[in-house]
Amino acid sequence: MHANFYTGNPLDRLALRRDDEAFMLELLHDPASRFLPVWRDRHLIAQGETQELRVGMPTRQALGHPVEALAALPWVLLGLQAGDRAVFAVDLGALEEPAALVPPEFGRFEPLRPLAPSLPADEAAILAQARGLLHWRRNHLFCGHCGQATVPQQGGTRLGCPECGLQHFPRTDPVVIMLVHHEGRALLARGTRFPGRRLFSALAGFIEPGESAEEAVAREVFEETGIRLRRIAYHSSQPWPYPNSLMLGFLAEAEGRALTLDDNEIVEAHWLTPDEVRHPERLDIELPGATAIAHSLISAWLG
Ligand SMILES: [Zn+2]
Repeated sequence: MHANFYTGNPLDRLALRRDDEAFMLELLHDPASRFLPVWRDRHLIAQGETQELRVGMPTRQALGHPVEALAALPWVLLGLQAGDRAVFAVDLGALEEPAALVPPEFGRFEPLRPLAPSLPADEAAILAQARGLLHWRRNHLFCGHCGQATVPQQGGTRLGCPECGLQHFPRTDPVVIMLVHHEGRALLARGTRFPGRRLFSALAGFIEPGESAEEAVAREVFEETGIRLRRIAYHSSQPWPYPNSLMLGFLAEAEGRALTLDDNEIVEAHWLTPDEVRHPERLDIELPGATAIAHSLISAWLG
């Protein structure tokens, strides 16, 4: 099984015990429970003993706040760490300054994307879980059916509607990402989403309702490049916390190489040789970094 970055979350998510409200409150009140604060899409980044970057998850004891100060903000139980310590994510977005609850000696609040490659993989995976859950919570304050304010349940991992009784569950958006190849060359494309950079990557797109992942691969590749596929092989998946996608990675063999690009999505696309892919600097292009599943797909094709 291929392990992509943002996988390997070490927490026990306690899915079978979240209904036990007394247990949830016991964990919340435990002074040794840890709090992973998120402030407006930024994360508490601390330095470890040897100056390495770590995700800040101070205990309530260390923060010195009464439980009410944290529980008044949106919070979610992420799970239990080894040694039975609970980890909660708490959304500080309502505060003008996060320092009101988490003083600077605990770390700085930083955006995830530039720092992710420097973080321990297991802690980045916990961040992915926290980001996805808090993003969902922020955007489901009201029931989508009747408009009533929703109420957190199951440690904040479910939202219930007191008016119509509907239960709302965390959302994960499936995206297919596929490295298309043909007779020893791989198709890499520069999308319209990163206009300033010469970043070339695998094609990708959201799965639509009533569509299998393989059908989405074939449709997206045809829409964006006019290429028909001969064979589609699943490779691996990756949670992608920007904000809450699940990337499903494929290698796809093309029938031919004639390109008809959709210029709303793709600026340019090229069929690259393995040598060109190994030395992108010679073409003055950038390829996806090691934290992206596209990097795993390219490595698998080269391998
Ligand atoms: Zn409702």
